[in-house]
Amino acid sequence: MTVRAPVSKLPDTGTTIFTVMSRLAEQHSAVNLSQGFPDFDPPARLIELVADALAHGRNQYAPMAGVTGLREAIAVGVAERFGSSVDPETEITITSGATEALFCAIIALARAGDEVIVFDPAYDSYEPAITLAGAKTVHLPLSGAAFAVDFDRLRDSLNARTRLVVINTPHNPTGTLLSAADRDRLAEVLAPYDCFVISDEVYEHIVFDRAGHAGILGHAGLRERSIAISSFGKTFHATGWKVGYAIAPAPLTQELRRVHQFCTFATATPLQCAIAAYLHENPRHYLELPEFYRAKRDYFLAAMEGTPFGFTPAQGTYFQLADYSSISDLPDVEFARRLTIEHGVATIPISVFYESPPASRLVRFCFAKERATIDEARRRLNDLQRLGL
Ligand code: GLN
Repeated sequence: MTVRAPVSKLPDTGTTIFTVMSRLAEQHSAVNLSQGFPDFDPPARLIELVADALAHGRNQYAPMAGVTGLREAIAVGVAERFGSSVDPETEITITSGATEALFCAIIALARAGDEVIVFDPAYDSYEPAITLAGAKTVHLPLSGAAFAVDFDRLRDSLNARTRLVVINTPHNPTGTLLSAADRDRLAEVLAPYDCFVISDEVYEHIVFDRAGHAGILGHAGLRERSIAISSFGKTFHATGWKVGYAIAPAPLTQELRRVHQFCTFATATPLQCAIAAYLHENPRHYLELPEFYRAKRDYFLAAMEGTPFGFTPAQGTYFQLADYSSISDLPDVEFARRLTIEHGVATIPISVFYESPPASRLVRFCFAKERATIDEARRRLNDLQRLGL
């Protein structure tokens, strides 16, 4: 019997670039600075707490909305950072990574015929979820070298069908930040419309700019219509654990949970218990992250001095864009492929995050790496100029 291929619900969706590039890196034994993940471990104490949880019976289903102690610890952190209170019972949901939170939020809110606005370059999980919800993705490009939101263009794009606007700060893949003024402007532009905001803030603690993180929870007006999403994968160098969370007013949380309970039901119990215990012991862990990653960014930039890449230092995230226009005229997907195969360093081409890619020549490096990894990448890029691509 021949198996008939089903009519695809996502005909335009290929394999995510993170898988494509990590696989290529592995095939060619390249230094993998593509997919974003640290090459070092979470805090030793946190690993110990996971082992404790596993050994002490924390092995059955967690509550659907998440382990209570973890939700309480998140609420304490929000109160400290934003000076605003969130109710752990009705406003916080633990999810299996930010990816699940994004998916549940989008599926819960976007309906057939709705429009959802994203800003390009946009993280690649948003659009497939919007498509599965039957809604239409409206792509607005971030403008200029600063990747700024064009608020006039946003205003022109909003209409009665706009159901959701997805923002992301600190921004992947560009490493830029929305400012508090941008946040005010967003509130002002959205004011006449009955739409929601999803704010993807998974890198909220990895911010180098003195102005800090302008999280959606710090804006009383926007908060009412927003779902803020974060990830312990980034905060604890544990991307493989897939523990994230969503914070939203109770009526939005209720809708998100309606999807979450049938998407995963609950997230890994021992991980949740361990993170809760760690946050209890060390509630200010996140304060170490800006310096920790700033040092990594600066080490990466210093190491890359003398290569023909051009850099504008990232303001946040653990990603650094690099302009390769003085090396090659190749489109970025091909450039990144050949850099991996011929020079042994894997990066992420950023055109894949656009509906209409600009003419710029940019790839993204992940600098969440040990110095030895960066040194090895640098060594392999030594002859880049001479060989060219
Ligand atoms: N967010 C990570 C990145 O930007 C990858 C996540 C994934 O592979 N799904 O590289």
